[in-house]
Parts: sequence; structure tokens; C-alpha cells
Amino acid sequence: MTANLLEDHHRRILNYLRISVTDRCNLRCIYCVPRENVPLLAHTDILRYEEILRLVRIGVSLGIDKIRITGGEPLVRKGLMPFVQQLHDIAGIEEVTLTTNAVLVGPYLKDLRDAGIRRLNISLDTLNRKRFAHLTGQDGFNQVWHNIMRAVELGFAPLKINVVAMQGINDDEFEAIADLTCKQPFQIRFIEYMPMGNPRLDHDPFISNDDVRRRIDCQGLLEPVARRPQDGPAETFRFPGAIGEIGFISPRSHHFCGQCNRLRLTASGMLRPCLLSDRELDIKHLMRHGADDHELAAMFARAARSKPLTHRLGDACGPAVDSQMNSIGG
Ligand code: SAM
Repeated sequence: MTANLLEDHHRRILNYLRISVTDRCNLRCIYCVPRENVPLLAHTDILRYEEILRLVRIGVSLGIDKIRITGGEPLVRKGLMPFVQQLHDIAGIEEVTLTTNAVLVGPYLKDLRDAGIRRLNISLDTLNRKRFAHLTGQDGFNQVWHNIMRAVELGFAPLKINVVAMQGINDDEFEAIADLTCKQPFQIRFIEYMPMGNPRLDHDPFISNDDVRRRIDCQGLLEPVARRPQDGPAETFRFPGAIGEIGFISPRSHHFCGQCNRLRLTASGMLRPCLLSDRELDIKHLMRHGADDHELAAMFARAARSKPLTHRLGDACGPAVDSQMNSIGG
């Protein structure tokens, strides 16, 4: 095990790197991408796999041991499977996980499992096929559901399903979505909507997770599940006798910055200390101008030191987050 050299000014140890491998996505979720003119990076501006692998090796030498691959949609990028395998083979990496919308994942599930991925996060905000098409721009619900079931068969566990909770958009489904955990081994995770970039929404659909919880548990049956490291920022509960669990991720109503152990590497090659702050360090520029591993490691350490104590989303005077979620990776 490597000593962790990525400690920030607030004594948080950063061991978790989330990597957006592309800003491209096959879906156009209304809360994630703009109405028109989705800004996309030129191919030459996206980090090459070998550049990412070099940065990960440096990160590992500083104490990073957990990687999440995200996007955009990671599966739209060619060559993802060999890359996943190479990541997994880096000595010192304890876990590689993937976040996907699951439309394209079907043919790759076995390869992912064989490459050592055990945990998948799948994004799904509705159980209604028509609404899925409206929210994402694609009639893909049946495909996603089929792939979720296949992932269960193949033993991906826990299978986390991310649901962005949105007032007036999918709030009439919270109970039905939560009830899935009675019969399926899912961890359904309700995530509070975060205002970022320039999405196609005409109002802020924020609903606090306290309200979501009241809606799905009017009888007060949910039982807390003891915290495990893999829960990350989720507070987790279970209905009595259920095989699955329900998690609440509440960045706006109960921010969890004090426990944040993450750094992000964006598709454009920026080290981003906090999802909800636009401060980024241009490690791609440094690398492409000949920096050696020590100089790149120093930039990792600078990124860690510049991690804000808390994000300011929700403060009346807090800055808005300009960056698009699809280029950072959620
Ligand atoms: N394409 C992949 C997917 O759909 O899971 C990975 C990228 S997506 C940006 C990662 C996660 O961010 C998804 O679970 C998505 O629902 C979430 N997300 C995107 N925009 C969000 C927002 N404004 N507020 C909260 N979550 C958001």
C-alpha cells in the first residue's frame, strides 16, 4: 500500500480519482446538457488513453487507489475495454468502477466483469418508457432495463442505480422506484439535482432528499444500514425484508464535503479538485509540454491543496458552476 501524499489543507486524504474519458454522450438528458449547441471538445483536446494511464500511475504513487470511469458516456469511446483492463492491472489500484447510462453496455458486461470490474453505477431516472425518451432524447428504456437485468445475472454487486430526484419531472415515481429494492438487489440512490452548466430546464427542479424520503417512507419503515466504505457520500437505508437498499446523496441539503476524498480528471485533461467549483489545473498542458513525472506529481499535490473546504452551491451569494457535467463526469 502506498502512503498517501494527497492530503489537502483540511486534513482530507484524497485517494479516489474520477476520470471522464469523453465528453460525448449518446443521450441528451434534459438536466445535463444544453438545449442546443452542445459544446464538444476537439478530439486532439481529449486525453489519450496512454496519457490517462500515465497520470493514473503518478496518482497511484501519491496514494490514489480507487478509480471511477465516467463521462459523457464512457462506452461511446472506442477502445474502452483494453483501457479498463490496463487500468485494473496497475499495481496499487484496489478498485475500478464505471458509471454508465447502460444503453450500450450490454455487449461489454462480460468483458467488464472479466477485466475485474465488480461495481457498476447505472443512471436511470424513470421506469416509464415514454418519459425516458422525453428525458434523454432516446427510446432506450427497454434496452437499459434488459442490461440492468443482465448485469444482475452476471453478478455485478452492488448494482447502484442513480436517480436524479426532480420535482415536477419524476417525483410521481419515487415510491415505485424505491419499491424495486424489495425484489431486486439494487442500491437505488436518489441524488439531489445540482444546477450546473446550461441544462434544458425552465426551472430549478430541486427537491431535498428529506422530502424524497418522506414520500417513499410515509410509514417510517426505512431502517438505517451501517456505513461501509463503498457507500461514499450516500446515507443508506433498507425496507424491512428488502433485498436491495436505498441511498440518499444530498449535496445541496446536507453537503458531505468534510468526507470528500475525490479528485477529478476531466476529459479535457484538467485536474478538478471539487465537482462544484470551476477551479481546475491544466495537467494536460503541462504533460504535453514535456513535464516529467515529478512535475506532474507536484500538480496533483497542488490540486489537492486547492480543494475548497466546502462547495458553495445553495449559498445565496455562492458562485454558479459554469462547467458542463458531461465534460467533468458526475
Ligand atoms: N453517462 C454516464 C451516466 O449517465 O451515468 C456517466 C456520466 S453522467 C454525467 C454521471 C451522473 O451524473 C449520472 O448519474 C447523472 O444522472 C448525473 N448528473 C448529471 N447532471 C446532473 C445534475 N445536474 N445534477 C445531479 N446529477 C447529475
